[in-house]
Amino acid sequence: MSYVFPLFPLPSVPVAGTDARFPVRRIYCVGRNYADHIREMGFDPDRELPFLFNKPADAIVATGSTLPYPLATQNYAYEIELVVAIGKAGTNIPREAAFEHVFGYAVGLDMTRRDLQLAARDRGRPWEPGKAFDASAPITAIHPAAAIGHPAAGRIWLAVNGETRQDADLRQLVWTIPEQIAYLSRFYALQPGDLIFSGTSAGVGPVTPGDRITGGVDGVDTIDIRLRDLAPAQG
Ligand code: MN
Repeated sequence: MSYVFPLFPLPSVPVAGTDARFPVRRIYCVGRNYADHIREMGFDPDRELPFLFNKPADAIVATGSTLPYPLATQNYAYEIELVVAIGKAGTNIPREAAFEHVFGYAVGLDMTRRDLQLAARDRGRPWEPGKAFDASAPITAIHPAAAIGHPAAGRIWLAVNGETRQDADLRQLVWTIPEQIAYLSRFYALQPGDLIFSGTSAGVGPVTPGDRITGGVDGVDTIDIRLRDLAPAQG
């Protein structure tokens, strides 16, 4: 087998406690999935079915990276999320068996071009330009469930330049991790290498060049991303 140009690298994420890496096949994302945002609006969490979207596997970028401000947006926004790493294939997985399919967990950012996302939403168009762009999925190492268990409670938080913006608890997830896996596997044959970004809590907002984003999930990891300063004017 030969290729007409050099084969691009397979996206992958380090696995904590080993030299081996987790190869990334697909990135699934679950839409709004925390009760705090619903409660602050004065309603009970209603368990409307989750909605799903994808990012390309090569949107992965390692924690510790400095990112350029992305193309084509005036509203580049953060969303801190617990990420589930799938280690075993399955379709129509029962909720009770879902944890058997989990390799481990990471902390990720569902970076969003909010202006493009909202414009698409309001016109009934696809979300890809708002969600599935270059470097839109910063992520920590993956921590095997064999080492850290299956986090179901604990703080999930994010700060911009040290100022807390998102502060919630995994217990506020409307759809639990096993429920998300069961639901997703009704639509897609999950495979080892798939990642699931499990949704974010209230407090999302924009960042600007030069900002530093930190965040974490208790019992999993912390993430640290910087945005490059604007290039100095030429001449
Ligand atoms: Mn999200």
